[in-house]
Amino acid sequence: MSNQLVVDEGIMKIPSWWTCPDGFQELKEQAHELGKSVLLAGSSNSDQNSIYPRESLKAMAEAGFGAVTLPIEYGGLERGFKGFAVLAESFAQYCASSTMCWVMHTAAVHVLFSAGSEEQKNRLVPGVLRGDVGGLAFSEPATGGHFWNLVSSAPRYGNGYLLNADKSFVTSAGEADWYIVCTNYPESTKEDKLMFLLVENGTEGVTHYPFSAMGLRGNSSGPMKFENVFVPSENLVGDEGGMNYYNDNVVDPLFLLGTSACWIGVAQGALNAAIDGAKKKVHADTGSSVTGYQVIRHELAKAQISIDSARNMLIRVAEALDNCKANGKDLSDCLYPLWELKTHSADMVIQVTNQALQVSGGRGYLTGQVEKYLRDGRAGALMGPTNEILREWIGRTLIEVPWFE
Ligand SMILES: Cc1cc2nc3c(=O)[nH]c(=O)nc-3n(C[C@H](O)[C@H](O)[C@H](O)COP(=O)(O)OP(=O)(O)OC[C@H]3O[C@@H](n4cnc5c(N)ncnc54)[C@H](O)[C@@H]3O)c2cc1C
Repeated sequence: MSNQLVVDEGIMKIPSWWTCPDGFQELKEQAHELGKSVLLAGSSNSDQNSIYPRESLKAMAEAGFGAVTLPIEYGGLERGFKGFAVLAESFAQYCASSTMCWVMHTAAVHVLFSAGSEEQKNRLVPGVLRGDVGGLAFSEPATGGHFWNLVSSAPRYGNGYLLNADKSFVTSAGEADWYIVCTNYPESTKEDKLMFLLVENGTEGVTHYPFSAMGLRGNSSGPMKFENVFVPSENLVGDEGGMNYYNDNVVDPLFLLGTSACWIGVAQGALNAAIDGAKKKVHADTGSSVTGYQVIRHELAKAQISIDSARNMLIRVAEALDNCKANGKDLSDCLYPLWELKTHSADMVIQVTNQALQVSGGRGYLTGQVEKYLRDGRAGALMGPTNEILREWIGRTLIEVPWFE
């Protein structure tokens, strides 16, 4: 046994490299500081009253996290996908709603950066650095979680397009300053007719509806309707069709990595709260704290091992994405590990938040921290690609048949 790992009174110190990749400790501490001082303060009100966490998102941008995945000359952080993952996991321990809005925003900004024109980047990125929020309007009620198969369309109309689309869930609906709307360009000569349009909030014909849900209640992830919305040509992001490439290479990698980090943070936050509560609760009859019972300690251990297994996948996948980028390879090279990561993290958060609630007893069931983690974390497996779809793609890959029909 290494002496370095044993501190006073025989208490094992968990090595910092196990819970945070080397070189990212300072960034993690910065995120926890922001989480404690800002995100946590607004979290309960946001949850109980379905309040959009505008102040938290503004504070994240002011701290330099408005466009983290962009190059430094665009105001990015230049800490790669690993930095994005460390931030998302840390923030989620304090407020899952703010973190989810921030993850979707970061993905939207990355889509704009990857597929957009210089003019579009110059138009929108400065605002993003000051706290403007972006959203992704992809999923439609007609095709559910199959967000790569849409029924909406935007044919040419004068010097632009006429967009008609129903969207089932849009994180930051009605709150974002702009949306990347995915739709079909019916006149496209390409087999893949998907097209991305930039629609600013307040544009005529855009309506949003309230989000009333079990968890992530501050998210404003409600439906949106785009009715005869005129989108000028300068708001076409990328090409008229063929944009599924960006689903595989930008939307999915950013979304799957960021949301997985969020579920890992929610699980760790729930377990930390459960440990804290179990240490403090002492039974007068036995004189033992709840942590004095071996069965409870085993439950804590099982939960932490589950979290660490997911976190280690997270760091490994983030590193692989960073390597792909550095070597000029497509991020879609990492899709298979991303599917495993998202499925595992979203399953894990359901299991761990349940364990945290059980360890917390009736107190955990009262409106407050532990039950909130459980409600927030339950969204992961439902968010597209859902865990059922991902398991099917993983299974098909294992038996060496095409994953996508
Ligand atoms: C909190 C939250 C935020 C969201 N934010 C956004 C956002 O910002 N932008 C956006 O575009 N979307 C967003 N979504 C939508 C999300 O990505 C999914 O599209 C949506 O959750 C799927 O729900 P549905 O009711 O349409 O499911 P359905 O697709 O109708 O699925 C119902 C069930 O059938 C299963 N199923 C569906 N298809 C298959 C299949 N092919 N094989 C096996 N099983 C299948 C599903 O796994 C699920 O169990 C959000 C969703 C939530 C809950």
